[in-house]
Amino acid sequence: METIRMVDLKGQYDKIQEEVDTAVIDVIRSTQYINGSEVKNFQKDFEEYLGVKHVIPCANGTDALQVAMMGLGLKPGDEVITTSFTFVATVEVIALLGLTPVLVDVLPDTYNIDPESVKKAITPKTKAIVPVHLFGQCVDMKPLLELARQHNLHIIEDNAQAIGADYIFEDGNRQKAGTIGDVGCTSFFPSKNLGCYGDGGAVFTNDDELAQKLRVIVNHGMQERYYHDSVGVNSRLDSIQAAILRVKLRRLDEYCAARRIAADFYDHAFKDHPRISTPARSEFSTHVFHQYTLKIKGLDQFELQNFLKEKGVPAMIYYPVPMHMQKAYKSERYKEGDFPVTEMLSKSVISLPMHTELDEEQLSYITSSVLEYMDKDK
Ligand SMILES: *Cc1c(COP(=O)(O)O)cnc(C)c1O
Repeated sequence: METIRMVDLKGQYDKIQEEVDTAVIDVIRSTQYINGSEVKNFQKDFEEYLGVKHVIPCANGTDALQVAMMGLGLKPGDEVITTSFTFVATVEVIALLGLTPVLVDVLPDTYNIDPESVKKAITPKTKAIVPVHLFGQCVDMKPLLELARQHNLHIIEDNAQAIGADYIFEDGNRQKAGTIGDVGCTSFFPSKNLGCYGDGGAVFTNDDELAQKLRVIVNHGMQERYYHDSVGVNSRLDSIQAAILRVKLRRLDEYCAARRIAADFYDHAFKDHPRISTPARSEFSTHVFHQYTLKIKGLDQFELQNFLKEKGVPAMIYYPVPMHMQKAYKSERYKEGDFPVTEMLSKSVISLPMHTELDEEQLSYITSSVLEYMDKDK
């Protein structure tokens, strides 16, 4: 059996090596390393894939979030509502810009932000909501869009984990995750579903005016060369990374399908187990399984992780400490116990290997190892 990896970037690369190598060497030979034609080409390809008017490539997913908040003109003191059960970047940029992060709880089945909690957290200072499409599945956007309309709020989608997922409206219409709110943000970190071979990110929007602002912000606040009308940042996607992303974008749907096959295998193996809850699948979203995350009952998730490690099965705990309990983001606003679902999840989730190269032999070894532990005192 091939060594089991949490993410198998080498196996994936082997299958596209010739195309990637040629694309990279072409960029090197072109010497257009910064904002070269491949960046523009990728931007166009990605706009088409997402069905969105504007993609603004940038240096990473964290920058994408920051730039989006700057573009919307959020000001120090403005409150931004997001979830406590996320990767730190979401909360970090809010704090970094002097905005006030207002954290709320998530739903126990999807691990995604709870619209009822969002509603309760809205104050006159609230300016934006940041739904995070966690682990590859869309947040229920309908109630959030309704709240945003009622209270005149911006919606910034953190779509670092659900690129390629479809949000399904009640009338059956579909739209790509990240293109539903005012602005969407994503990351091309190597292990993401659409990962490059270094850092990368992008912001996307259908709003022409906002897109123009975002393009200026990522380029030092500069529209005309050496004239700076606003404070910006330097956040660019490398031409080499753009060339790699073009090759991988053509296969993104195929990659999502491979992840879904692995997820189906896991689902089937753990179905009806009294101590294991498999990830819920919402009717309003497809799932692209950035992570396959179980909830376990009655046993310790870290002990399971150690047991699996000894059997050669990597597993990760995303996320062991919720944001409202992190030293950097502690606040008078909340204390331990305030977000019971988030806190329960941080004590019971475990993510299994998930990538595009898992074969049946590996999957059945992983599932039988998990079951061996979960049934150990039967
Ligand atoms: C990965 C990730 C980011 C940040 O992306 P980087 O490219 O690493 O900066 C932001 N939000 C979420 C939810 C992520 O998973």
